[in-house]
This record gives sequence, C-alpha cells and structure tokens, in this order.
Amino acid sequence: MLGYFILHLLTAGLFILVLSQIVRDQKIDDIEAKMQSVALMLEGHIEDLENGINDQALVEHLKRLGKLTNMRFTLITNEGNVVADSVKGTEEIGPHGDREEVLLAKQEGWGFAQRYSDTLDVNMMYGAQRFDNSNQDTGCYIRVASESYEINQEILEIQMFVWIFALTLSLLTSGLMTIFSMRSMQPLTTFAKAARQVGIGKYDTALTIQSRDDEWGTLSEAFQQMQSELNRREKRLLENSQRLEAVLSSMIEGVLAVKPSGEVMLANGAACRMLKLTHPEIFGKKLLEIVRIPELAQAIEKTQLQRTFSKTEFKTISGKQKTLKARVSMLADEDKPGVAIVLHDVTELRQLETMRQDFVANVSHELKTPLASIKAYAETLRLGALHDENKNMQFVEQIEFQAELLNQQILDLLHLARVESGKKTFTITEFEINQICQAAYDQFAEIAVERKLEFQLNLTQPSPVIAADFKSIETIVKNLIVNAIHYTPENGSISISSYVKNKSAVIEVKDTGIGIAKDQQNRIFERFYRVDKARSRDMGGTGLGLAIVKHLTQSNGGSVHLESRLGKGSCFEIHLPLKTG
Ligand code: ADP
Repeated sequence: MLGYFILHLLTAGLFILVLSQIVRDQKIDDIEAKMQSVALMLEGHIEDLENGINDQALVEHLKRLGKLTNMRFTLITNEGNVVADSVKGTEEIGPHGDREEVLLAKQEGWGFAQRYSDTLDVNMMYGAQRFDNSNQDTGCYIRVASESYEINQEILEIQMFVWIFALTLSLLTSGLMTIFSMRSMQPLTTFAKAARQVGIGKYDTALTIQSRDDEWGTLSEAFQQMQSELNRREKRLLENSQRLEAVLSSMIEGVLAVKPSGEVMLANGAACRMLKLTHPEIFGKKLLEIVRIPELAQAIEKTQLQRTFSKTEFKTISGKQKTLKARVSMLADEDKPGVAIVLHDVTELRQLETMRQDFVANVSHELKTPLASIKAYAETLRLGALHDENKNMQFVEQIEFQAELLNQQILDLLHLARVESGKKTFTITEFEINQICQAAYDQFAEIAVERKLEFQLNLTQPSPVIAADFKSIETIVKNLIVNAIHYTPENGSISISSYVKNKSAVIEVKDTGIGIAKDQQNRIFERFYRVDKARSRDMGGTGLGLAIVKHLTQSNGGSVHLESRLGKGSCFEIHLPLKTG
C-alpha cells in the first residue's frame, strides 16, 4: 500500500511539474502579449508628443502608466542610453543597450527576456519594442518590465491546490485499494494457512472459503480434493505401517531389512533382542559395523553376488550366547540389491540336540557296563568256572545282579521318558502326605535295621493334604529313602518327616550320611550323574533316581530343596502345593 501511495505522489509530482510549466508558459505568453500591447500603445502616445522621447511630460506619463499597469517602463535610445524610466531617475540607471530583450528588439522589432534584476533585486520579465519615431530621426526602444512574483504566486497556488487534490486522491485510492486488495487477498491468506497446515501433515483442517463461482471457488474445490486425497493416503499408509508393525512385532523370528549400502532399514523387536541391538539407534547405521558377525557378512555378500538366498548359522557374542539361524534373501532386483534377513533362535533346539546326543552316549555307556560284566561272568563260566563249585554260584549271582541292574536302569529310563514326554500319565487325587510317609517307613524299616541304621518317622498332625499323582509322590519318597540308605554308613540315622512350610506341604528325608559337596549339589539331579560312580553301582544305583525325583516333583507342581554338608549328611525337602478350598 505504501508503494501505491508513493507511486501516486510521484505521479502527482510529475503532473504538477508539467502543469506548472504549462501554466507558467501560458502566463508568460499572456504577460508578454500584454507588455507588447502596452508598449505599442505607448509608442502611439510618444508619437503624439511634441518632443518625442525627450518630452518632459513623458516621465510623468510613464510613472502613471506604471502605477496603473503595475509595470515598469523604460525608454532606451538607439545607443543604449536610458532617457526615461517609470521607477528610477535616469542618472541612477546605466546604459541598457546590451540587455537581451533590447538586442532581440533591435533584430526583430520585439524582444522578450526573463532574468534577475540587479537594479530592482527581483526576478523580472522584460519586453522591448523597437520604436522608429516617424517625426524624428532617432529611434528608441520602449522596454516594459514586470515582476515574475505574481506569476510565481499564482503557480504556487495552483501547485498547492493540485498537491492537496493529489494527496487526497492518493489517500483515498490507497485506502480503497487496501480495502479492495485485502478483500481480494483474503482467500489467498486462507489458502496459505491451509497449505501450511498441509505442510505439517494436518490434512483435515477445514478451508473456510465460502462456496464461490469464481477462480477462488475452483481452487478451493481442488484444494479440498487434494486435502481429502492426502488424508486418505496418509490413513492408508498409517494402516499399512501399523499392520506391518503389528505383524513384525508379534513375530518370534527376527526380521531385518538392509539397504544395498548395508544400512539397516527395518528391524523388528525380535531381531533387536536376538542381536542385542538398541531399537532406534540402529537405523541408518551399517548392520555389519554394529553386529560384526563374519558368517552373516558372508551370507549377505553371497546373496548380493549370486543373486540367490543363502543360509547360515552363528553364535552371538554379546550377552548370553545364542545360536541363531539366518536366511538371507534379496530385496529388490538391482545391481547390488538390498537384503532381507530372517533370524531364528535355535539355541534351545541345538541344546536339545546336544542333550539328546549326550543322552544316547550316556545310555549306551551305562548299559554297556552291566552288559560287559554279564558277558565277562558268562565267559568265565564257559571257560571252566562252571564246574568250579566254589565260584560258579557266585558268578551266576553276579550275572543275576547285573541283569537286575540293567533291568532297573531300563525301567528308570522308561519312567523318566514317560515323565519328560509330558503326556498326561498322572491321576490327580487328594490324599494325606502322612499316608505316603507311613507306607514308605513301613516298607524300608526292616532294611534300615538290617543296615544298622536308626530310622525315624516324624509326622505332623493333622496331615497336610495335597492334590497330586499318588504314584509319583510314592516314587519320589521311595527314591529318596533308597538313596539315604545307600549313602548313610552303619549307625547313622534316617528320618522321614511331614510338615507345612511357606504354605506348602513338605516331605523331608534326612540322613546323617556321607553328604554332598556344594559344587555337586546341582549336578546330582542330572541324569546318570553320580558323585562316586563305583559306589553307586555297587549299591545297584542307576544314576537316574534323583533325575526322576526332580521331574516328578515339578510335574506335580512342586520343588525339590537340598541342604547337605560333606561328611555330615543330607536333607531333601519335597515342597508340594497344599490342597486349596
Ligand atoms: P544313584 O542311583 O547313583 O543313587 P541318584 O540319581 O539317585 O543315582 O543319585 C545321584 C547321586 O547323588 C548319587 O550317585 C550320589 O552320589 C548322590 N546322592 C544321592 N542321594 C544322596 C544322599 N542321600 N547322600 C549322599 N549322596 C547322595
């Protein structure tokens, strides 16, 4: 608006300048014509005078004429001398023959000039009329002078008027233009606001432009269409990414997408957990710089070079070691494609495989020992001992003992396999644990006495009741008592107790036997683990008793606790959940 205003003023200024010049020229032309007519009138008057320009009455006449016309009259001889003047005495005025107007009049009869008068100290206009007196020989010049002041004053007034007019007009037009442009710009402002909202991702901001028939209306319609299309696309993108996110985050498999340059594009939670990566920090970083797994690097390279998928398996280095299986495939058909990596955690699978292999080796080894003994005794008998009456019975008994051991081991193995298979082989019933303890006590009391062991039974009353598989609990207690008897030397004591501890029913089998060293206490629950292999075997032990105890207790919702000191004895506690309700 300021620009418009200034432009208006400049135009007005130019207009005033041109107008002033035209008016001035017009005025000057008028005054010049007036001067010439007065000079011609004076010429006629002088011609009528008796002494012409030297007439005494002329000066007075000039003065009078000067007052009437507000002009100055000067008579100048052909030689340039002033002979009469309406304002000053001739003696005050020097020769005037060289004045511009006089020189022009000399040539053309009439001369006109404007300049500053040193004599009168004002801007003046001069007109000179050559006058050839018909009565006398000597001609002269009638010079008429008028001040420019009046013209200037008039022009000034005109200028003032035009300025005021232009200023008012400028203000008015600028004001009107402001209002008009504000009105016409308003939709643009609204569009700018709405476009800014679209720029920051808000596509549903309503466009507050009334429905119009002009271009704004068309534009507004197009804009709204664009908004709703963008809104729809964003929603679809969001839905897709949410769906993808949901699928990826619920996957057990780790999924990674890597750019051709090696930077991570996408990684789900499982992949981050498997590779011990922090979620947002990995994006944009090179995968192989963060994980440094040569097997994975090779698989990626192979996929990119041979343009086929590749598989690899590796162990993670950081944190708890895991075995991961990776399947690397191409992402896009480019020169050097990006890759998608799917990771499977096969740690448990591999552990199970190792366990199975170990187990097979252990079983073969365990079964081989009694078999070898049987074979050796049978061979000895065949080679002659059969007829040795002192030894043959002993060897046959050994064969029987080893065969029984073998049988027991196979039974235990089958039992363990059944428990571990997880198949529901249990019948859950409610019963008192005292019942089991009492039965076990009755079963082993005689054997204990034979082995010179003190055998005690401490039962809490009323008996804690549990809901479990009766046979399992019976086997647990039996196995613990058999061990206590095996590993407690003569004159030792064994006790079976029942009580309630930490809201659990507890069956405790305690002995004053050889005890178990701290570092062995966890291991004795492993299959075939024995602290002293020879002693265990001599006792007819299979090395599976405690493994069965542990599995059966856990399968019945309980836990095994062991407290033991080497040389002092052991105390096994079986904690089982009390029957509720
Ligand atoms: P085993 O048939 O050899 O007894 P178990 O699984 O029952 O097999 O026991 C594993 C090992 O734990 C035994 O070989 C023995 O060394 C040790 N053990 C078990 N019970 C006791 C106990 N009451 N006192 C000392 N050592 C024991």
